[in-house]
Amino acid sequence: MKVDVLTLFPEMMDGVFRSSILGKAQEKGIVSLNAVNFRDYSGNKHGTVDDTPYGGGGGMVLKPDPIFAAVEDLLSRSSAAPRVILMCPQGETFTQQKAEELSSADHLIFICGHYEGYDERIREHLVTDELSIGDYVLTGGELPAMVVIDSVVRLLPGVLGNETSAVTDSFSTGLLEYPHYTRPAEFRGWKVPDILLSGHHANIELWRREQALKRTLERRPDLLDKVELTDQDCKVIKRLKQQDNGC
Ligand code: SAM
Repeated sequence: MKVDVLTLFPEMMDGVFRSSILGKAQEKGIVSLNAVNFRDYSGNKHGTVDDTPYGGGGGMVLKPDPIFAAVEDLLSRSSAAPRVILMCPQGETFTQQKAEELSSADHLIFICGHYEGYDERIREHLVTDELSIGDYVLTGGELPAMVVIDSVVRLLPGVLGNETSAVTDSFSTGLLEYPHYTRPAEFRGWKVPDILLSGHHANIELWRREQALKRTLERRPDLLDKVELTDQDCKVIKRLKQQDNGC
């Protein structure tokens, strides 16, 4: 996969792209991560990329020409049909399902805004997706783009050491993940559940499924409406609800 990030602050990407899973994914040749300063496409000697809004009002607006020129340059050098993703608090809220969808693309181009926002023609005529990472406003699109890139790249085959760890992650299964424990078996008097020390893999799987259902019921019951539940899951949920009601 190839990922290009259009930004006015390419240095913000340096540490993130070189560290941890993203750095390893690049070393393995699974992904190539590239920050592009769209000021280089300003077309004027002052490198101006923003201007005052038509109609008045505060703040500066990112001009269309540098961003169109930067994207078109990347498109002319791409063999795939890239997804062009505008980072924007008004966009579709990013989810694990969207991360899974994007992980099948060959080329992603992210556009990171700043200031008041973008000229509307970028949204209307250049992008394929608009993504928000939540209902709050950040200074720029760099941190949101890093969030999306990290969650997409970790899903690419060969990136995570243990292939199953992304499969059981919260939201991948439609549920929150079950609790984890490691050594020591007893810490300050708090014991690891016996079942996890039993070595009985089938029972451990049942316990983990039940714990995932319990955790989801307690913390994010809305998720249970969207996930496909087995008859056994429904029985477990019924029992958990009865226990909660004290019956
Ligand atoms: N005036 C804009 C509005 O009300 O929608 C907010 C502009 S914000 C200060 C500057 C840039 O930060 C945005 O263009 C976008 O690229 C990025 N940004 C801020 N919050 C974001 C979020 N929740 N998700 C994705 N991008 C965000």
